[in-house]
Amino acid sequence: MPTKVAKFGGTSLASAPQIRKMQAIVQSDADRRFVVPSAPGKREPKDTKVTDLLYLCHDLASKGLKFDDAWDPICDRFQGIVSELGLSLDLGPILTEAEAIIADHGRRGLPADYAASRGEAINGRIIAQLLQCDYVDPTELIFFNERGRLDEDKTYATLAKRLANVDRAVIPGFFGTGLDGNVKTFSRGGSDVTGAIIARGVNASVYENWTDVHGLLITDPRIVPDAFTIETVTYRELRELSYSGASVLHDEAVFPVRQANIPVNIRNTNDPDHPGTLIVSNDHPSAKQSYQITGIAGRKDFTIIQIEKAMMNTEIGFGKRVLGVLADFNVSFEHIPSGIDTLSVVIEDTALEGKLEDIVAALHTAVKPDSIELDNNLALIATVGRGMAKQTGTSAKLFGALGTANVNIRMIDQGSSEMNIIVGTDVQDFEKAVQAIYSAFVSEDGQTRALS
Ligand code: ASP
Repeated sequence: MPTKVAKFGGTSLASAPQIRKMQAIVQSDADRRFVVPSAPGKREPKDTKVTDLLYLCHDLASKGLKFDDAWDPICDRFQGIVSELGLSLDLGPILTEAEAIIADHGRRGLPADYAASRGEAINGRIIAQLLQCDYVDPTELIFFNERGRLDEDKTYATLAKRLANVDRAVIPGFFGTGLDGNVKTFSRGGSDVTGAIIARGVNASVYENWTDVHGLLITDPRIVPDAFTIETVTYRELRELSYSGASVLHDEAVFPVRQANIPVNIRNTNDPDHPGTLIVSNDHPSAKQSYQITGIAGRKDFTIIQIEKAMMNTEIGFGKRVLGVLADFNVSFEHIPSGIDTLSVVIEDTALEGKLEDIVAALHTAVKPDSIELDNNLALIATVGRGMAKQTGTSAKLFGALGTANVNIRMIDQGSSEMNIIVGTDVQDFEKAVQAIYSAFVSEDGQTRALS
């Protein structure tokens, strides 16, 4: 039986009318057998997400305070949804039980996971009633190991068995069972991860991730307001883009489906006819049609530590000692551009906070350089595309565009996979540089980027 897993995000389920849209989407395709809901999110920008209110309830409870002011709006919101949808579900006992356990966990100093998970759990019950299908609690399916990571063997074995004879079900996102037997959540936004695990566990033909945007945009719409949606992106490109600052899917959500070669389709609940963005492996037929570039992403606020020493190249182990100092300070680095007698490391400013002076002193001791210079105020922009490797002139076009826009390039790094070109610019030039790259590669109708 063909199976699609459809995960719906918080804004897609924020109110009864939004939930009706979800219902229409699910019921329009019989293959959408497993629905993974988030908790109700924001109805408008100033609204508060149910999950945030639940964390607040736990916080108050753990301080021995009453939490009615946070709890009542949650109850009102869920009760309002049930009555607007015209369901006969009696939420009373479910809410009473949740409130008592939140109070108890707070009193006993237990973590916030149970409280945080109730948004998904209660929403899941409502949606199962609406769709007239089974409710399967994810604590029966998803297990964490002693390191707090997914216990893959146990999870996939249990999941396959438990869902083998389930025709259709609602499985709330965001949580499972911790090693101690209590509810444990993924990190924020973790319903994406649940959807990916279920998709892999049932060997879905596609993992649909329904949200409030058309998909992954070529670049940040705050910088290029009419940026086009990417039609197809490979898992590797997505990883590059999201690491470089693009956000659409929880990071950990990519791995389960990628391992099982299941495409992910980002779709818009508010515009279900739009095809969205398809995320596939390199050898998927849809990955063949490629563009000169797929996306542009970037982040600000990096520092370059430039180490200079004459005849550095003859000193075996120089690089190892430099990186060893960073490891000792638990600092992760982004790039290591190097010259004959210079080696630089590019590091995010936040990673250096309170440590920079000590790191420089330790580098002096470790490699006895002629000089160390610090250069901050750096932004990194990654231009990513699987089509680049086959196309001559990509970098000429990119650097030409930046030159014409009068952007000074302070660093260049091209990954050996030839799938990305990363440039470092002054932070002040960041937006201008992204706009210049976008207009060099993406035409007004978004069409002329195709490779011949
Ligand atoms: N409700 C959780 C959060 O707000 C998980 C999710 O929506 O994916 O982080």
